[in-house]
Amino acid sequence: MNHNVVVEFWGVRGSVPSPGPNTVKYGGNTSCVSITSQDKVLILDAGTGIRELGSNLATQLQKEIFILLSHSHWDHIQGFPFFKPIYQSDRPVHMFPTMLKKNNVLSSLVEQMDGAHFPITPDQVPSNFNYITDHPLEFLLSKGFNIEMVSLNHPGSALGYNIKVNGIKICYFTDNEIDPPYQKTIEYDDLVNKCKNADVLIHDAQYIEEDMPSKHGWGHSLINQVTQLGHEANVKNIVYFHHEPERNDDEIDQLWENESNWLQTNNSNSTAIFAKEGLSLTF
Ligand SMILES: [Zn+2]
Ligand SMILES: [Zn+2]
Repeated sequence: MNHNVVVEFWGVRGSVPSPGPNTVKYGGNTSCVSITSQDKVLILDAGTGIRELGSNLATQLQKEIFILLSHSHWDHIQGFPFFKPIYQSDRPVHMFPTMLKKNNVLSSLVEQMDGAHFPITPDQVPSNFNYITDHPLEFLLSKGFNIEMVSLNHPGSALGYNIKVNGIKICYFTDNEIDPPYQKTIEYDDLVNKCKNADVLIHDAQYIEEDMPSKHGWGHSLINQVTQLGHEANVKNIVYFHHEPERNDDEIDQLWENESNWLQTNNSNSTAIFAKEGLSLTF
């Protein structure tokens, strides 16, 4: 099989949408990433970035759509009612419930369309949601996505995904606190092993030292911890993701420079990329 795998970023912000003149470069939409392999599109999270992705997919009817969520916090589900393909009749949208034992991820996607929080209810939506409840990972494997779930350190839990597709390894680990004050779900060394030699590590990088100690325990990582992780795991591309909504473009530019310098000084094989809307990586 020789075809491209394309990783695209539609929403890269954490916590809450943050549009405005100071966030134009990196964008203000919340978490949404797509991985396209031939005519199959795996969507990671349904933050507000999924709206624009949906507008694109609405005209590409041959594309088969799969939605996987890290967890059900607002910034990972809120765009779903604005995802155009769910309003296209005969357009199956494959979704995967209850991967996270503690809270039903699928129900949070659909239940926000309850008439009170959103005017249209799921039974009024023409598309056919295809809930894959049995053996979801086997189903995705049959579609070419070989996925391992990884439980992350996050209040209320979150799942990371270790994705192998057409020989490319992509780790999607957002909403993960590398060094939390609460009991860890995943130890640092295990995290390094999971990310080992990845082509792309997309990791939560919301905070900097100045945000601490007040935000210690909020479920997100420091940027320099992500650099360390990517470097130790020999990751090719470290993609810093889930940016702090208060962080402006100039500040993010500066952080990119700092981390790139650190990697260079340490003769790292890793490249630092700060995720922005419209970023597309092709393998
Ligand atoms: Zn989040
Ligand atoms: Zn979260």
